[in-house]
Amino acid sequence: MKLISKCWPFFWLGAGAITIFGDVFIRKDYWALLTPYNQQSLMTHETTHLRQQKDAGIVWFIKYIFSKKFRLAQEVEAYGAQAKMDIVKGFNKEDTIKRFAACLLSPTYFNMIDEAGAILALRTEVNKL
Ligand SMILES: [Zn+2]
Repeated sequence: MKLISKCWPFFWLGAGAITIFGDVFIRKDYWALLTPYNQQSLMTHETTHLRQQKDAGIVWFIKYIFSKKFRLAQEVEAYGAQAKMDIVKGFNKEDTIKRFAACLLSPTYFNMIDEAGAILALRTEVNKL
């Protein structure tokens, strides 16, 4: 993991962290605002992307950029991992699903899905528990 400044080009779209080339890059100012639990949650998300990228190789990046369907599947798995962590900790399941579904609606992901679809996709992912 590397903490870096928000001037880094990948953060111009509003992302707080990005996983690329086998490492996790996190905006210093974003990381500093997170509680230790939320830092762990973020690393759960980014570690999911590390594994996805390792499994798929360089093709992952190309598909992630150009395929909305692929990008959505990767993010649902990553946010689903975070949601599962919260649910296991005792957070309300439906509130957790809605909270992470809102993340999927971020402009950072270029309008991948609507709210109802995001909730359904995350509920399906979480139910794989
Ligand atoms: Zn992600």
